[in-house]
Amino acid sequence: MKIRTSFVSNSSSTSFTCQHCGGSESGWDYGLEECYMFQCKNGHIVHQSHNKNWKDGKENKDAIKKMIDQYFDEEKKHMIYFRGKYGYSIFGKKAENRDPTDEEVRERLENDFKECYIENVPSKYCPLCNFESVSQSDLVWYLCRKLDIQKSDVPNMIQKEFSSYDKFMNAIRKSYENKK
Ligand SMILES: [Zn+2]
Ligand SMILES: [Zn+2]
Repeated sequence: MKIRTSFVSNSSSTSFTCQHCGGSESGWDYGLEECYMFQCKNGHIVHQSHNKNWKDGKENKDAIKKMIDQYFDEEKKHMIYFRGKYGYSIFGKKAENRDPTDEEVRERLENDFKECYIENVPSKYCPLCNFESVSQSDLVWYLCRKLDIQKSDVPNMIQKEFSSYDKFMNAIRKSYENKK
């Protein structure tokens, strides 16, 4: 019998919580893709099922072109630098002793864009960015603004007002039940 010893060191448990519905997905070495979630440009993590069109932007020619134009010079410099320094091609082809062509730079940027897309989905596909719901953290930001207090002061305020966590929770429960 073969005993697997590398399991613990190579794998780690990951989990993501959807900020729209609150559901969680987890697994060994799971990424957003395996959890059927995506992250929008504002950092919200949500299930892909909340907007089935989310992937459309990945093929959006204008967005790809804009990104390529923005990073082209930087990327080309970077590719030339690495080739010179380490003597190998970093654009996935057999090492050749030459600079990358513009087409190869564009191709590499386009692949990067598609690979990173799941972490940079445009806001128009995100339910939170469209105000279909408000995340817990945005809720806190809003309340602090309304009450004119600093978010960082809140833990201290709670500790001062209640001598224990049980007392805090009881008070919350009571005020919640009174308002029902
Ligand atoms: Zn969800
Ligand atoms: Zn968002």
